[in-house]
Amino acid sequence: MKYALVTGGSRGIGRAVCIKLSQMGYHILVNYKANKAEAQRTLEMIEQQNGHATLLPFDVSRQEEVESVLSEWMGNNKEAYIEVLINNAGIRKDNLLVFMENEHWFDVINTNLHSFYYITRWLIKKMLLKKYGRIVNIVSLSGIKGLPGQVNYAAAKAGVIAATKSLAQEVGKKNVTVNAVAPGFIKTEMTKDMNEDELKRLIPLNRFGNIEEVAAVAGFLASPEASYVTGEVISVNGGLYT
Ligand code: NDP
Repeated sequence: MKYALVTGGSRGIGRAVCIKLSQMGYHILVNYKANKAEAQRTLEMIEQQNGHATLLPFDVSRQEEVESVLSEWMGNNKEAYIEVLINNAGIRKDNLLVFMENEHWFDVINTNLHSFYYITRWLIKKMLLKKYGRIVNIVSLSGIKGLPGQVNYAAAKAGVIAATKSLAQEVGKKNVTVNAVAPGFIKTEMTKDMNEDELKRLIPLNRFGNIEEVAAVAGFLASPEASYVTGEVISVNGGLYT
């Protein structure tokens, strides 16, 4: 059985990625932070399609928790190796920098950027040993062009983009690819406070995107077919100029 870990798989884009990777034959490790009911729902959706999944809750922003859960899982599954990692879990806490509080800055950086380091460093060793791996980081339009009110979030996502490009160059020789997907406005809990009617006028395709449209690109980058694509950032944003 091939394993894929999707962080933030309980809802939104992460859930759609879990389902996509399950359809590709992976046993999905569905990570989430607190929302067990929604994570359970993702698991049921996978099982309804005859897929396999395990819930693996941990807070991606807490290094000790990440490492203890992953090492325990690996200890209990010595033969298994996680060949696909989707770093998807993320939060936004928007505020103009002038009003930003430490909590807004550190929570967003810890969850969106430090998580990449904690989890990827832990899983990449086995990918290098096995000479195969796929890492896909879900970043954002904000990390490419910057957005007012998102200095914290844009900095975190831009950090992950730079890390994607650097790591791709470190591990390419071992047949491990590292790419990023940069969504624009996608209909999830994260964007439910945004005015689609107003914002869609900025988007050439004239609408917010769906979670499946992001999962399709993440699924491709996680697939064997994407074997000659690495260090890339693919935008899924309806044509918003970046
Ligand atoms: P949602 O708010 O719908 O879901 C967030 C997911 O991340 C949930 O599964 C949540 O788990 C999980 N999560 C949050 N914090 C943690 C944590 N500390 N540890 C573990 N899991 C955590 O978000 P989206 O689906 O919209 O976003 C997914 C990714 O896509 C994020 O990285 C986001 O920045 C990015 N993105 C989204 C865009 C959009 O328009 N929606 C645009 C650009 C990028 P739980 O259910 O337990 O809370």
